[in-house]
Amino acid sequence: MKFISTRGNVAPVGFIDTVLMGLADDGGLMVPEQIPVVSAQTLSSWRGISYQELFLKIFAYYTNDEIPYEDLKKMVETSYSTFRTPEVTPLHKLNDTSYILELFHGPTFAFKDVALQFIGELYSYISKKHGEIIHILGATSGDTGAAAIAGVRGKEGIKICILHPHEKVSKVQELQMTTVDDSNVLNLSVKGNFDDCQKIIKDLFADLEFKGKYHLRAINSINFVRILAQTVYYFYAYLQLSEADAGKKINVTVPSGNFGNIFSGFLAKKMGLPIGKLIIATNENNILERFVRTGEYKPGDFKATHSPSMDIQVASNFERYLYYLLDEDAAQVKAVMDDFKLNGEIKISDELLAQVGLDFAALGVSNDQCLAAIDKYNKQSGYLLDPHTACGIVATDTFQEEGELAITFATAHPAKFNESISLLGIEQQFPAQIAQLFDREQHQVVIENSEAAVVEQLKAFF
Ligand SMILES: *Cc1c(COP(=O)(O)O)cnc(C)c1O
Repeated sequence: MKFISTRGNVAPVGFIDTVLMGLADDGGLMVPEQIPVVSAQTLSSWRGISYQELFLKIFAYYTNDEIPYEDLKKMVETSYSTFRTPEVTPLHKLNDTSYILELFHGPTFAFKDVALQFIGELYSYISKKHGEIIHILGATSGDTGAAAIAGVRGKEGIKICILHPHEKVSKVQELQMTTVDDSNVLNLSVKGNFDDCQKIIKDLFADLEFKGKYHLRAINSINFVRILAQTVYYFYAYLQLSEADAGKKINVTVPSGNFGNIFSGFLAKKMGLPIGKLIIATNENNILERFVRTGEYKPGDFKATHSPSMDIQVASNFERYLYYLLDEDAAQVKAVMDDFKLNGEIKISDELLAQVGLDFAALGVSNDQCLAAIDKYNKQSGYLLDPHTACGIVATDTFQEEGELAITFATAHPAKFNESISLLGIEQQFPAQIAQLFDREQHQVVIENSEAAVVEQLKAFF
């Protein structure tokens, strides 16, 4: 299997080179040359295997034996040994037609751990085995940073710098990132919002001379390996269902920001996983909902909400979807993205919009709806939703039809977002790993919202 760019100007490369490249060298995103298809027979033979075994089965379609099986197996086992449940991503039954896939049982209590615990191991392996220098640079709306830092802190041969929007992440998110005192970690608190952070990162990765000189590696979902690692739990969710439930039309709802998690679902579906509707749930930053409704992709005004990890206007993985929507025509993707850079919007034809409607449903959930859903489910079933997952549940309940089965992804643990939960007068017990963060010393540098300010810090750190 080789990997190519959505914009068509990168010669096909293997798996490890794709991981190291992160953002494609032509400014696009890396995708597999062909998406492998898992037959129904193979899929059913995977029933009952562990999360770790499933991971290895799925990765085998993509890694070309560039990593010996035993090495990959060891990495996968180490990665998921840090999770608090043996299933890694267990299914919780809410009622007869609705399940929650809990993705928050990793070290930092958000779904980002699932991919980033593995990526930490993988980078460490590539550093040792291939002698590559690994300098990770990433932007976070709160959870990616914490998970990436947890994945590589103290690891030899790796340094990591994470940009987060100053005072726009939750307290627990900030503490998880900044109370780490390993010398290979640098936190930059940027006086701007997440889109500003992400733009600085993307521009630095697009500067090939700078990227090469400083050995910049990506952990954001611009990196294909993160997308691939996330497909595993879509398959695992399906395989955990009873055969009767697995035969129903299964809709999956994903609280979305950068379109990374749900793109993994799109990939899983293309690989043959029988998913019905893929439902995009967003908050009041609803560029994706507007796109699915009108065919216009245009960033709006930034809004701070109860679900800060989804306070995103420019969804970087959108380009991967566009590539498939445009029938894998890279030249057309490049033209559309060049035009987007110039004019700040994309408008697709009615014909393509009809296709979008077959691929996705979408709902932007207001702050009030989000809180009301947390309250309702807490009272009804004693299940405490985090605000991101609550947006998901509102979308699920909106689109659910008779006879269908819903799986809503729980992308974070509610303890990470107590600022919002406490507005409802709900008092939650913090898990010990979170409670102990509050009296630790913080390490971060507050900087201006500019590429130059980031570069100055990087030159001193890397
Ligand atoms: C990152 C994040 C999201 C959004 O995921 P994307 O892959 O960016 O769409 C949703 N919920 C939580 C809790 C997150 O941390």
